[in-house]
Amino acid sequence: MPNFHLAVSRESANGDFHGRVTEMLELLPLGPNIHYYLCGLDAMIDDISNWLEQQDINYTQIHREVFFMPNKRNDDWLYSSKGEKRGYIQSQLLHELWFHTGTSCNLRCPFCLEGSKPGDDRLQFITLEETKKFIDEAVEMGVEKFSFTGGEPFVNPHFISVLDYALDFKPCLVLTNATEPLMNQFAKIKRLISKPNRLNFRISLDHPDPQKHDESRGKGNFKKALDTLGRLHREGFGVSIARLMLDGEDGDAVDKDYAPFSTRRESHRISPSSGFPTSTNRVRSRRSRKSPKAV
Ligand code: SF4
Repeated sequence: MPNFHLAVSRESANGDFHGRVTEMLELLPLGPNIHYYLCGLDAMIDDISNWLEQQDINYTQIHREVFFMPNKRNDDWLYSSKGEKRGYIQSQLLHELWFHTGTSCNLRCPFCLEGSKPGDDRLQFITLEETKKFIDEAVEMGVEKFSFTGGEPFVNPHFISVLDYALDFKPCLVLTNATEPLMNQFAKIKRLISKPNRLNFRISLDHPDPQKHDESRGKGNFKKALDTLGRLHREGFGVSIARLMLDGEDGDAVDKDYAPFSTRRESHRISPSSGFPTSTNRVRSRRSRKSPKAV
C-alpha cells in the first residue's frame, strides 16, 4: 500500500505539513521510489522541481500541474534543470466549458450514464447566480463555447435564465431529450433566437426505429423528440442528434436508417451526429457525410 504525505503551503488542510514551501522542502522524504505530485503557480513549482532534481530525484518522479500568472513567465519552466522537456497544462487556455445542470430528469432510461431519474438531487440544480461567475471567468480566459448537460437541463427551473446569460457571450450547446420539460417552455426558448450567439441542441434519438427508442424512453417519446427537433430547426436553432452506438454496428447502414426523418415535409437539416455507447460500448462519434440527413 503506498504511503502518502500531503503538504499544503497555504490553505488549512489535514496534512503532514502546513506552511512555507521553502521550509517544507527540507522535510520531504527523498528516495528513488518516491513520486512527487506538485500543484501550484509556475514559479513555486519550478523552485520545488529544481530543488528535487538537485537532490538527484529523477524528473520522471516529479509530476507537475502548473498554473501561470499571465504575462509573468519565461520559458525556463518548459525544461528541467537537465534540459529535458516538461509536460504542463495550459490552464489559462479554455476552449469549451461544460456545465452539469443537475441530475434530475423527467425520464429514467435504463442505460443512463448519469443514473438520472425524476426528483434525483444528487447534483442539485445550478442557478444563474452561481453560474455567472464561472461564465464570466471563462469568457476572460477566451472560452469559445458553453455546453450543458444533465439530467435533463430543462427540468432545472433556472436553466433558461442561465442560457440567456451565457448566450450574451458565446454559442451554447444543450444536450436534451426534447420532451415535456423543453416543450412546455418553448415560448421562452423561442425568444433566445434573438441572442447575439447561436443556440444549438443535441437531441437524443437512440434508434431510427421509434419503437426501440420508446422501449427505453417511454411510449411516444420518439415522436415528441422528433417533433421538437423540427420545431427548433424551423425557429432557426442548430440541431443535431445523439444516438446509441452498438458494438459491431454498420454505422453507415444505421445512418441510412435515419434518413427518412429528413425527408419529411419539414425536412430537418441535421448537423453532425454523435453516437453514444450502451453500457458495454466505448464512446465514439462520427460526422454525417450527407446532408440534409438525420445522423
Ligand atoms: S433522458 Fe438522458 S439524462 Fe434523462 S434518464 Fe435518459 S439518458 Fe439519462
